[in-house]
Amino acid sequence: MADGHLDIANCRILISNDDGIESPGIKVLEKIARDLSDDVWVVAPEQEQSGASHSLTTRRPLRMREVAPRRFSVDGTPTDCVLIAVKRLLRDHPPDLVLSGINAGSNVGEDLTYSGTVAAAMEATLLGIPAMALSQEYRDGHRLHWETGEAIAPEVIRRLLRQQWPDSTLYNINFPAVPPAQVKGFAVTSQGKRAIADNLTEGVDPRGRPYYWIGPVRDGGAVEPGTDVAALGDDKVSITPIHLDLTNVPVLAALRKVFE
Ligand code: MN
Repeated sequence: MADGHLDIANCRILISNDDGIESPGIKVLEKIARDLSDDVWVVAPEQEQSGASHSLTTRRPLRMREVAPRRFSVDGTPTDCVLIAVKRLLRDHPPDLVLSGINAGSNVGEDLTYSGTVAAAMEATLLGIPAMALSQEYRDGHRLHWETGEAIAPEVIRRLLRQQWPDSTLYNINFPAVPPAQVKGFAVTSQGKRAIADNLTEGVDPRGRPYYWIGPVRDGGAVEPGTDVAALGDDKVSITPIHLDLTNVPVLAALRKVFE
């Protein structure tokens, strides 16, 4: 584990994502990382893996391809990418920090367990490496404000690296869908909830067979204050510490009385 006060200029940074190596967001994140350190490596999925969650490819071999110096694609998931990067490509000098993103679209509330962006940071955390997942909120009918993440991420990364890194924890960072000048500051948040709407489209394929197509989760219902969902609604940058121990600790005592 990092002992706090990581000197960013001497950090080896690994970048991954779930939108794929050719996505605009990973190029923005590379630019941010290269301004912070000279030792930046990219290992990202060849194809888009949004919604891949923390899946690991185990039933077929994986291929890694060098697309440019220190830039590699893997024909697998974000988790595969981080694992191969840390355990093979960079095993003689593992990264000090893993950055995942910047995702096209926010990762808040229930997105966290679907997200491949967050999963890349989870894998790094399991491997004992400090990690952050970064996402840029998108609102229908508007362009993606990549310049917002680009302007604000360096400050967020620097501030988080100055803190003692908590055990088994990653930071989930979301930038609101407004230009940098309209951002109303930072909010340290908890994971929120959104109503999962009926986002299934049904149709019939060209061979006459019915299909279902899962669309995006839509915002809906009451927004709880103090959450990631609320922060983006207030045009604030949301920073959520995510703990990988999923145990519901307050329930343990009552449950032990039932079974022990
Ligand atoms: Mn994505």
